[in-house]
Amino acid sequence: MLDGIVYTDMEQCQACSACLRVCRTKSIMMKEGKSKIIEESCLNCGACLKACSRGAKKYQSGLEAVEELLAKDKSAIILAPSYVIVAQKRYGCSPEQFGTALRKLGFALVYEASFGADVVTKVYLNYLWDFLNTQGREKTHVITSPCPSLMNFMEKHAPSLLDEFAPIMSPMAAQAVLVKQWNQGQVRIVGASPCMAKKSELLDPELGLYDQKLTFEELIQLLDRRGIVPACLEETEFDGIQALYGAGFPISGGLTKALEPFSGELGFNLLSNDYLIIEGEDRSTNFLKQMARHKQGSGGLAGYPLLIDILFCEGCIMGKSLGVEGDYWENKRLITDYTKKRFQKLQENSQECQGYITLVKNTVEVPEFQRWLAIVEELIADNQFTRPWQSREYHRKEPAEEVLRGILELDGKHTREDELNCGACGYETCRERAIAVYNGENEPGGCIVHVKYEAKLSLEENKRLLELDQLKSDFLSTVSHELRTPLTSVLGFSNIIKKKFEDTIVPLVNGDDKKVKRTVQQIADNVEIIISESRRLTNLINDVLDLSKMEAGKVEWQMESISLEEVIARAIAATSSLFEQKGLELKTDMEELPLIQGDKDRLIQTVINLISNAVKFTDQGSITCRARVTGDEITVSVIDTGIGIAAGDLPKVFEKFKQVGDTLTDKPKGTGLGLPICKQIIAQHGGRIWVESEIGQGSTFLFTVPLDKEKGDQLNRLDIDNLVKQMTEQVSSDVRSQSREQKNVLVVDDDANIRMLLRQELEAAGYAVREAGDGIEAIKMINQSKPDLILLDVMMPGISGFDVAAVLKNDPGTMDIPIIIVSIIEDKERGFRIGIDRYFAKPINTDALIKEIGLLIANGASRKKVLVVDEDTSTLKTLVDVLETKGYAVVSARDNEDCLKKAQEEKPDMIIVDTVFSRRHNMVKTIRLEKGLENVLFLFY
Ligand code: ADP
Repeated sequence: MLDGIVYTDMEQCQACSACLRVCRTKSIMMKEGKSKIIEESCLNCGACLKACSRGAKKYQSGLEAVEELLAKDKSAIILAPSYVIVAQKRYGCSPEQFGTALRKLGFALVYEASFGADVVTKVYLNYLWDFLNTQGREKTHVITSPCPSLMNFMEKHAPSLLDEFAPIMSPMAAQAVLVKQWNQGQVRIVGASPCMAKKSELLDPELGLYDQKLTFEELIQLLDRRGIVPACLEETEFDGIQALYGAGFPISGGLTKALEPFSGELGFNLLSNDYLIIEGEDRSTNFLKQMARHKQGSGGLAGYPLLIDILFCEGCIMGKSLGVEGDYWENKRLITDYTKKRFQKLQENSQECQGYITLVKNTVEVPEFQRWLAIVEELIADNQFTRPWQSREYHRKEPAEEVLRGILELDGKHTREDELNCGACGYETCRERAIAVYNGENEPGGCIVHVKYEAKLSLEENKRLLELDQLKSDFLSTVSHELRTPLTSVLGFSNIIKKKFEDTIVPLVNGDDKKVKRTVQQIADNVEIIISESRRLTNLINDVLDLSKMEAGKVEWQMESISLEEVIARAIAATSSLFEQKGLELKTDMEELPLIQGDKDRLIQTVINLISNAVKFTDQGSITCRARVTGDEITVSVIDTGIGIAAGDLPKVFEKFKQVGDTLTDKPKGTGLGLPICKQIIAQHGGRIWVESEIGQGSTFLFTVPLDKEKGDQLNRLDIDNLVKQMTEQVSSDVRSQSREQKNVLVVDDDANIRMLLRQELEAAGYAVREAGDGIEAIKMINQSKPDLILLDVMMPGISGFDVAAVLKNDPGTMDIPIIIVSIIEDKERGFRIGIDRYFAKPINTDALIKEIGLLIANGASRKKVLVVDEDTSTLKTLVDVLETKGYAVVSARDNEDCLKKAQEEKPDMIIVDTVFSRRHNMVKTIRLEKGLENVLFLFY
């Protein structure tokens, strides 16, 4: 018997266990998420093919080989009797038309295997007769052997019954013996049947009978490929001798039926228990297993029938590769009708021949008939239709009970009650599964019920961990927020102390007194320490908060089309003072880069962090910033010639709070959070970040960001934020010089320290300051007298800063007062929706705040007229909308002519125009030559 007919397409397999559930012999190995056929155990029956919804189980195809054979050699086909069902149901043709179709396909000879069945019946008769005579009735128990799945079963799983298994060929094999002899071996033989297991039998080289074997499914494919329509063809007679009873052989008990006329001769009683007809995968294999057990037992096979007519399927009429659908009864009817037709022919044209009449009656009048029949007799006499069986036992080792228990434990089966025997895994019992595990056929701990239970537990655990994580994030942000307010005071006042001390006290101190001089120096140093430590603490808090927000997915990423060149340039600018301090050289190595989708500020933060780390860990040499397009991404590298990182430490540097190297003697200044933040940012951009380094040689930190394929070719034309910022700066610098009177700022904060701090800073910058302790008081004060600008805290008793801002921005009397929110609550979105002008997070960077206040007040003092020019309507509309909401008087123009006209009429303070467009029309020169427009400001994008 040939192994490996059925196999798994590993690509398709999802190891769902459906195949294992239907497999009678559990010949499937589950490993690494795939189910592989155990060839040494497999019956090649094809049950798994039917069960697999993904089509992952397949059988070896004979199609190509048969096509090749037909093209080259004289070939004969032998049809299993159930082809009649295919002819009728698939093609609506008679068996004889189907025969013609096969000739058209290229077969020189077309045989029915049913005559082989008639011959085999005769062989069984002789065999039974001999058995009874030699062994006696009591010991005669013959199992019939036409079914290839059962042949495999007997040899692999019930070898102890091989003595009972009749050593007789199947009808198809017998027919091939005949065809070979009738044609003196001058023909290639192909078999066709509804059974893929038949390939395992007929293609066995030890049998050496068939050149190829097709299933009916495959035969249908061949006919259809060639477009042959059997129903339109003439009828032709089949070759060779035609069968009588053999035509009914595929129905269960077909052999018993064929032997019926001889039962008297054999002394069999059909009404007694002499015969057993048994069919079906479960019933047949269970029966044989039990029979094998009994045979080993003390009683032996006493009481077992004389003849066991057994088939694995429900007769060959329901073969797994029949190729047509149909119910059992319908298929049986087609076969019996055809057999009846045979008998009618017999009546019309009966012949007697050498006492062989009862079994073989020819219905074809051909000259060779007598020779053929003589050959049949010779072959029977010469025992040419027998075949041997050999034990190929597939042995599963039985583990000792404690080993078994250990395996069961892994499946969560701690007690007998836990053994559900539900069959979900494919094995009938939990123990059967454990034995399979012991034999390496399945994976430990793979019980589906147990896995499901574990998954549920880990889901719950996951949920709990997520909740804990959330709690941790909430805790972190609360603590960080709580720390920020006092830190603002500490940092702010230390700065003021330092300034006042240096500006006012130090000049008055008697420079000659050494003690005083030393004390002054100590005070200055101490204040410096307070400031630098406060800054460090601020940075730490900011980093902790930043990272916890990223991890909790709470960061709002401002993704847009951006240029990495600009990102790197801005990061370099921000870190330039570090280079000066350490005397390091900065090199850039950039090529022209296409745009990417990214959050500009966050990427700048990443590059700043990498550069400042490089500076921090490099004492001499240089730092290089390199950017290259690498495939469909951009790779940015920051290369230093510093201390380097040991190989073992490389993966650690991206972990939170990890500072590598000799942290005891060489304690680095930092938080150990910079790189984890970078990692989060880059991951958010769909890129990777890693480091290559060698101790003493320097480090290279690299990250990638995917290219923005859609927008890659377009220019990043419009960066509204940047544009508006530039405008504000232009306009305010223009206006500042004009407004000389002292401006009035209202500080609204419930924290008296913060109010005092801001007052001192603002007054130092020349502003008049008023204070309000809450929102209600603020609104009252604003109604009494309008300030030029309001600094507004968010979290205050009574009404929140957001509500105050909403009230003011909705009142025409106050809507134009610039509002800057200064808060520990980071909800810029909400602030800007209400219409506030700027947002500062505490602890406040007072220098930046003062600068922003200057810009806003200056801008608010004059409503500027802007002319916006763009050929693209939607860009134009966006710009107009944005600028109008920012308080500008906006005029728009779509072409050069329109632009000139509007410029002359409206005399704008500023013209905003696309660089390319402006250059094309030589706009700056033309407009500036116009009267009254000599000083107009141009802003390009
Ligand atoms: P830190 O704030 O401590 O710099 P990072 O997460 O940015 O935190 O870096 C973590 C650690 O990785 C640093 O403390 C240092 O040990 C190591 N490291 C980072 N960049 C470099 C570099 N360019 N050269 C050597 N070591 C570095």
